Amino acid sequence: METNFEAMLPNISQLSALFNSMYEGVYFVDTNRKILFWSQGAERISGYSSGEVKGFHCFDNILIHTDNAGNNLCSSGCPLLFSMKNGKECQASAYMHHRNGSRVPIKIHVVPVKDEKGNIFGAFELFSENLPQSDMAERLMQLQKDALLDSLTELGNRRYFEASLYGRLKQQERYKMPFGMLFLDIDNFKLVNDNYGHDIGDRILIMLARTLQNNVRPFDMVSRLGGEEFTVLMDKIEPEHLLERADKLRLLVEKSEIFEQGKRISVTVSVGATLSVPQDTAASIVKRADSLMYEAKKNGRNKVFVG
Ligand code: GH3
Ligand code: MG
Ligand code: MG
Repeated sequence: METNFEAMLPNISQLSALFNSMYEGVYFVDTNRKILFWSQGAERISGYSSGEVKGFHCFDNILIHTDNAGNNLCSSGCPLLFSMKNGKECQASAYMHHRNGSRVPIKIHVVPVKDEKGNIFGAFELFSENLPQSDMAERLMQLQKDALLDSLTELGNRRYFEASLYGRLKQQERYKMPFGMLFLDIDNFKLVNDNYGHDIGDRILIMLARTLQNNVRPFDMVSRLGGEEFTVLMDKIEPEHLLERADKLRLLVEKSEIFEQGKRISVTVSVGATLSVPQDTAASIVKRADSLMYEAKKNGRNKVFVG
């Protein structure tokens, strides 16, 4: 059966929803270049809400498109005007005025819109940020960093830990290689905050993170799960070395200290250490390491329990 494409075209509210879902900016002007539609993407790129722009003309000193040389495109060289006059699509690069006053480089694509009789009654402009590639790469790096790093200690965060653990479980499934996991929790950390204040508490967390990071092997992975809880994932670890390595970290934490108001401030950690087994899931290995850590707490703190 042949499908009538025209009949399938969405109505105007469906079209608006579609344009609003696009990452790029979309706006529509009538033949007087009065803005009748301003998409959410357009709001994001320009900083102007739909309410601030709709009903104005695109030459009303809002968007103030300029070319490379700083010439105002509204008076001469407006791509919308060109398209509506010639009935042709056109593309251009320009700089748009952002609500915060800055200039945003954009790529423009204009499509004139005709009625059934072929009369032009307006035009759509699609525009996207024309950012240099390096900026884009940097932004992506930053986003990735924000998503996976703990901002205080700059260790991997819980999400990073979970992703790494998942990777190691898959590796174990395929290559039958067990790995080690340490669960560390600072002892009586609340007292540090109570006695010295939260800022000192934060400095202790950073110090501890550095001690752990500086004293694991390059392929071991230290994360901060949150609060005063840390994990270390250790590849290629022999069972007889697990306790040895965990205890070395415990001792190095004990020996780390900051100096403040003439005092030396240090903390200890209780550690649960375990090796993965073939039937482990993420939940089962974390639970086992956590329970062992808890045993270490119950048995006097500043200890490693292996299981
Ligand atoms: P335990 O030996 O049983 O683990 O005792 P604890 O005091 O370490 O454990 P508890 O769970 O009672 O308290 C944890 C404390 O960690 C409470 C909270 O104020 C502190 N804490 C959590 N996150 C942060 C942080 O980002 N900065 C600071 N300064 N303190 C934090
Ligand atoms: Mg805790
Ligand atoms: Mg604690």
